[in-house]
Amino acid sequence: MIPFGAGFSLEGNFSQPYSGICIDFTLMDKILAFHPDDMDVVVQPGIIWADLNTQIESSGLFAPMDPSVAATVGGMVSTNCSGPYAFRYGTMKDWVLNLTVVLADGRVIKTRRRPRKTSAGYNLTSLFVGAEGTLGIVTEVTLKLAPIPEDSSVAVVPFVSIAEAANAATALIRSGIPIAAMGITDEVQMKILNLYGSAGVRKRRWEEKPTLFLRFAGTTQGIQSDISKVKEVVRPFNVPFVLPKSKAEEKAFWAASKEALFSMVKIRPEGMEMWSTDVAVPISRLAEIIEWSKRECGNRKLKIFATVLGQVGDGNFHLAMFYNPRNQKQKEAVEKFVKEMMDMALEMGGTVSGQHGIGIGKKDYLRDELGPETIGLMRELKRTVDPKWIMNPGKVFD
Ligand SMILES: Cc1cc2nc3c(=O)[nH]c(=O)nc-3n(C[C@H](O)[C@H](O)[C@H](O)COP(=O)(O)OP(=O)(O)OC[C@H]3O[C@@H](n4cnc5c(N)ncnc54)[C@H](O)[C@@H]3O)c2cc1C
Repeated sequence: MIPFGAGFSLEGNFSQPYSGICIDFTLMDKILAFHPDDMDVVVQPGIIWADLNTQIESSGLFAPMDPSVAATVGGMVSTNCSGPYAFRYGTMKDWVLNLTVVLADGRVIKTRRRPRKTSAGYNLTSLFVGAEGTLGIVTEVTLKLAPIPEDSSVAVVPFVSIAEAANAATALIRSGIPIAAMGITDEVQMKILNLYGSAGVRKRRWEEKPTLFLRFAGTTQGIQSDISKVKEVVRPFNVPFVLPKSKAEEKAFWAASKEALFSMVKIRPEGMEMWSTDVAVPISRLAEIIEWSKRECGNRKLKIFATVLGQVGDGNFHLAMFYNPRNQKQKEAVEKFVKEMMDMALEMGGTVSGQHGIGIGKKDYLRDELGPETIGLMRELKRTVDPKWIMNPGKVFD
């Protein structure tokens, strides 16, 4: 039984190596109860986060996780997703109050009640968040909500090198300035935006340099103060600090940052595949691994076309590469490179998956990250909850 939300996950999380029954949640997309006074909402798993936010907008509240545009809450819970706002708001696990889950034997359980705080018993909510549908089917989700900030702004800061951009990102993280979101894109990605961005994004000619996109949110006065402090932190890098002149321009700035991965998908040449992978490392090692990944990938004799992007605010970044699946040498070179990148992240004390889960693609790396004892306990949990191994088999571990 393979649950399916919007199919936007990136590690083969919903693929079906043993065939089976695909359970599509598209039509279970309703808000079941909205408690604005308690700042929470109970939803069915098929609701798309953006639709949820549109429906509750007039209350002044929103659900702050925003991964790919059409992701569903069920898929977001099951991958423990995040998004650009993770820097300020954390990841999906921080916003789930309780879950209703149908277990493999048909029992229906509710993991908790609705208070924002509880220390009652085992944290079963967290057991199912990020389980990728391998432990049960999520049929209801109670989410915490946050107040919509009064105002927002976006700054675009181009750097001379990706290392400088990453170093500035680390300095900003350490500064403690409450930036809402922080994205990095390399010069390749900026060029792609100039050529293939959406109409609004292409109105502007972007500097084709490694760039930080910084989003600010809060009171108008607070934002001005945050921007001044950020300018101080990036001053030693001697870089331009571009602010939007209007709300429309602000929207275009943010759209550019959000469009990054999609623009890459758009330019994929016929017959080529895209491999997008992510890691997260302790923030002090961020610049080092980004620079290493970019350099090493570019160095391969087989000329892998690759671009760096990501939500660096929490030490996470992505590398997206094109390869020809019929060119065995190139495919192997990409596989080898991804393995080296995972090894490097682990050596730095990081993780092989910052936000896309393990799926089918990262099972071996998870073993490297956690070791046989930890994986062994995960297996025992799986066996207890799903003894016949019928829930999304072949994912997370074998
Ligand atoms: C362009 C693009 C940008 C992206 N940006 C981000 C980003 O910023 N941050 C981020 O974290 N991710 C990002 N992603 C990845 C993706 O958006 C997330 O993994 C998202 O959470 C997937 O949601 P989905 O509804 O598509 O789930 P699916 O892909 O349909 O499913 C994901 C997993 O959840 C399981 N599942 C789905 N519904 C249920 C359910 N009801 N019960 C139990 N299990 C279930 C599935 O079996 C599968 O294992 C991006 C992807 C793309 C293509």
